[in-house]
Amino acid sequence: MNDVLNAAHARRPIRELPDELVSQIAAGEVVERPASVVRELVDNALDAGASQVTVKLEAGGVRRIVVEDDGIGIAPDELPLALKRHATSKIASLVELEQVSTMGFRGEALAAIASVAEVSIASRTADAAHAMRIDARSGELNPAARAVGTSIEVRELFFATPARRKFLKTDATELAHCVEAVRRHALVRPDVGFAVWHEGKLVEQWRSAGGLDDEAAYESRARAVLGEDFVAASRAVSIVAGPMRIRGRAGLPDAARSRADTQYVYVNGRFVRDKLIAHGVRSAYEDVLHGGRQPVYLLHIEIAPERVDVNVHPTKIEVRFRDGREVHQAVRRAVEAALALPRHGGDVAPASAQAAPTFAPAGHAAAPGVAPTWGPQSPLGLSTPRFDVNEPPGPWRFAGPLDTPATPASLPLAEAAPATIAAEADDWPLGRALAQLGGAYVLAENRHGLVIVDMHAAHERIVYERLKASLGAARIESQPLLIPATFAATPTEVATAEAQADALARLGLDIAPLSPGVLAIRARPAALAAGDVVELARSVLAELGRYDASGAIERAQHEILATMACHGAVRANRQLTHVEMNALLRDMEATERADQCNHGRPTWRQVTLKELDTLFLRGR
Ligand code: ADP
Ligand code: MG
Repeated sequence: MNDVLNAAHARRPIRELPDELVSQIAAGEVVERPASVVRELVDNALDAGASQVTVKLEAGGVRRIVVEDDGIGIAPDELPLALKRHATSKIASLVELEQVSTMGFRGEALAAIASVAEVSIASRTADAAHAMRIDARSGELNPAARAVGTSIEVRELFFATPARRKFLKTDATELAHCVEAVRRHALVRPDVGFAVWHEGKLVEQWRSAGGLDDEAAYESRARAVLGEDFVAASRAVSIVAGPMRIRGRAGLPDAARSRADTQYVYVNGRFVRDKLIAHGVRSAYEDVLHGGRQPVYLLHIEIAPERVDVNVHPTKIEVRFRDGREVHQAVRRAVEAALALPRHGGDVAPASAQAAPTFAPAGHAAAPGVAPTWGPQSPLGLSTPRFDVNEPPGPWRFAGPLDTPATPASLPLAEAAPATIAAEADDWPLGRALAQLGGAYVLAENRHGLVIVDMHAAHERIVYERLKASLGAARIESQPLLIPATFAATPTEVATAEAQADALARLGLDIAPLSPGVLAIRARPAALAAGDVVELARSVLAELGRYDASGAIERAQHEILATMACHGAVRANRQLTHVEMNALLRDMEATERADQCNHGRPTWRQVTLKELDTLFLRGR
């Protein structure tokens, strides 16, 4: 102990650190675990223009990592340089540094890795007769066999630094981190094929999904990498805001997780972890997500290179923006706009609206004695405190100032209603959702006052119109079930299913006998993805049984659709999120005849501010 202290205090001459030690110190910043090596090597492969990248791992990458690519390769005389510190082919001047578009540019990754592991590189350029391999430790060059491209092998990570090796977790954990590193690349490069092998077994494989300008390619890659569930439970994000473009997907509040493990943000194609962006996203969810829940999202931010500095961190995972506030706001609006979209709507770029209070405008003359036209009951039991306790109104502030504190739930209504209701909300005929009442009604605010929506009736109407429209286009679009739903059927049901297979197909249903007395549902209408599929099948079979001559079925079609719509519509007493309520309102606006349900009942009513004033005997 004393020796250590004495050594620390004893005067020693100043010396330049040996190169090897400099690299090892630098490696501490770049190479934390096998996944860091994977990230750097895949970066290099992509910078080399690879169209296929294969990662092979042993013991979670601790024993061995090989990354193979079909990129441009390294010329034999440059192989020793590739391993030198601050040697790079990517930038040659400060001007280039400011415009850098490659993943790497600091020229230190390979040197750092080679200082803490056994490294060899085999590479071949297009004009070379064969490949050459260099061993990093000995510097020896030998001919090797491989096609054009590069293979980099990294063995025994931290072999010489046992203290660092001790910090590594189990192989399974290190493997998971390595796969995550590849996943981060894969999400932003749908044009490149990726494969990950562990101990000779294929762990993940994503084939090239199309060009980089092809939005569908990104979506199909997201589907492959993050799963069908992620895409199904998220909305498309797409806005252009000043010098920025933001695309991707934002998860619905229901898809939020307890861990922040499905949050992918890319700035100019580079995966980043940025507090400012994370906060911007988070604030878009502030009214719809409970404290501890973590939203899921995948955002690609493109911004003029001179407005962002990527050279602030050795692993380039952090960036610095010239105007952070501008980025924060754009991210927040992009996500808010995505969440407020109707489910089947297109993408809307939100206008940057200035705050315009629509609540309680002055100048509403009192009209004492005029009974409200919206119904027999008086104030609907709509007392202010009930409004306030759980759901402070004003969830959709598109243009709120950056530092608006979250609205405390205890504020009285008048103060809680933000003065920053954006112009978009103003333009929505049915307004923006405020709350759900009695499990059956959605309350919304528009420029005229209060909108009350019967949520089941409204949704039924939307589903019905959607079904009708798709039946008009020959047949209802159907969606296969991943796992067929089976149910015990009566002989009549089985007979109807067999006799009416064509009619069922037209209705978007695939129902066929599986065994005596059991029917299997293999597909259902895409528009009815939410309801109970067995219940739906049963009532459609019952309807078809009633009209079994095919002409009658044609004529009874709309009744059958109405039955189906009723099954697909949201049930009363289901708690809707703000996002769902707003989506319902937008869907209603987009649907023909949305003001009447299939049974002829109204789906919504307007209560004007004037009527409210009258109710409260408020003279002006
Ligand atoms: P940087 O990527 O910052 O330039 P690296 O240490 O990661 O630094 O790589 C050093 C150089 O080696 C690169 O600039 C590049 O010229 C070359 N290189 C590394 N990996 C590959 C590869 N897979 N294909 C072609 N060239 C490569
Ligand atoms: Mg690199």
